[in-house]
Amino acid sequence: MPDFRLAPATRLDQVRYDIRGPLSQRARELEQQGVDLLRINIGNPARFGLHPPAALREAIAAHLHEADAYGHELGLEIAREALIADAAARGIGVLDAEHVFIGNGVSELIDMSLRALLEPGDEVLLPRPDYPLWSAATRLNGGVPRYYDCPASRGHQPDAGEIEALITPRTRALVLINPNNPTGAMYPRALLQQLVALAARHRLLLLSDEIYDGITYDDAQFTPLAALSGEVPCLSFGGLSKLWRACGYRVGWLQLTGARAALQPLRDALQLLAALRLCANQMGQYAIPVALQLRGEIHTLTTPGGRLHATRASLIEGIARSEFLEVVVPRGAIYAFPALRDGLLPGFDDQAFALDLLEHEHVLLTPGSGFNLTDSRHLRLTLLPEPAMMTEVLARLERALARHVEA
Ligand code: PLP
Repeated sequence: MPDFRLAPATRLDQVRYDIRGPLSQRARELEQQGVDLLRINIGNPARFGLHPPAALREAIAAHLHEADAYGHELGLEIAREALIADAAARGIGVLDAEHVFIGNGVSELIDMSLRALLEPGDEVLLPRPDYPLWSAATRLNGGVPRYYDCPASRGHQPDAGEIEALITPRTRALVLINPNNPTGAMYPRALLQQLVALAARHRLLLLSDEIYDGITYDDAQFTPLAALSGEVPCLSFGGLSKLWRACGYRVGWLQLTGARAALQPLRDALQLLAALRLCANQMGQYAIPVALQLRGEIHTLTTPGGRLHATRASLIEGIARSEFLEVVVPRGAIYAFPALRDGLLPGFDDQAFALDLLEHEHVLLTPGSGFNLTDSRHLRLTLLPEPAMMTEVLARLERALARHVEA
C-alpha cells in the first residue's frame, strides 16, 4: 500500500471529548454483544423519553417546503426577530437582527466565535472543570486555555480575584458556563457583576454559554450575563437542545450585546464565517418562534412532580447514604458531579474506574477528568433518567467503589 500520509494534524493532539470518547466506543461494542447498559453519560433528553413539545415539530412540518433552499447566513429573519423580542423581555438589549446569529447548535457558534476572535497564542479564560468543547475550540483556533478553578470546596463557584490574577497582555476573553455543565452550579448576580467589571477593566470579551438557561431547581435564580454587561461586549449562547429538549434539531443562537462600534469588527468577521458555511439547517429554525413562546411553561420538569426534580431527589438521597461519594447539590442544568469523599482511595483514577464500572456493572458515565480537571476524583452523571434508574446506578457505583476499597 502506498503511504497516503493521513496522519492527522498535530493540532488535534491536545483535543479531547471524553463524553463521546473511548468509553462510549466500548459501550457500543458491549451493546452489540447484547449487554444491557445503563447509560447516564450524555445530556440528550429525547434518549430518556423527554421529547420536545409537539408544537416545535408541528412548526417545522408546516414549513418543510420553505426549508428547501439556502437561507440567510445569519439565520431565518422571523426567528432572529423573535429572539430579540425574547431577549428584551428578559432585560437584554440586543442591538438589532444583524447582531443575532443562528447556528447548527451552540457547538458550531462556539467554534465560529473563537475562530473569529483568536490570534495564535491568545489566551482564553475558561472554567475548570469546563465543557470540553470550549477547550477544544480554543486550541483548534490557535488559542491557549487559561483555567480558573471552580472547586467543589467552594460550591463550584469561580472567584473573581483568582480570575483576575490569571490575566496577561495576551488574554482576550472570559468564558462563563451558567448554569454549569458539568457541576450544576449557578452564578449569583453579585458574582456576575464582579466579572463584568473585571472584563471592563481589562478589555476582555465576555462569552456566556447559557444553553441550560431555564433549567433551575428550588429557589435558584438565573441571571443572563447580558442583562448586566451594558456596554461591555458580550456574546451570549443559547439554543433548543436542553430546555426545549430538541438536541437533534441542531439549533443554537448567539446574541451580541455591548457597544455597537466596539462589536463591529467581530460581528463582521462572524458574518463572513457564517457566510462561508452558507446557512444553518433551515428546518429546525422554524421551531424557534414557537419555542420562545413556550418559555414560561416548559420548565415543569424541574419543579416538584417533574422528572428532573424527582431524579435529582433520588441522587441527593442516594449520595447522602453513600459510604464513598459526596456531591455539591446541582442548582441548575441536567448533571451532577459527585466526587470521592476526602481521604478515600488517594490514588483513585476516574478513567480506570469508569472503565471498570462499564465492564463489570454495565454503567456508562463520564469521568471528571474528561472536563479538563487535574484531579481525577469526580464522575459526571446526567439527571435525565427515571429516578429508579438513578437509584440503580448509585447502587452499582457503590458496589464498584467497595471493590476498589478492598483491592
Ligand atoms: N455548551 C454546553 C455547556 C453544553 O453542555 C452543550 C451540550 O451538551 C453545548 C454547549 C452544545 O449544545 P448544542 O446542542 O446547542 O450544540
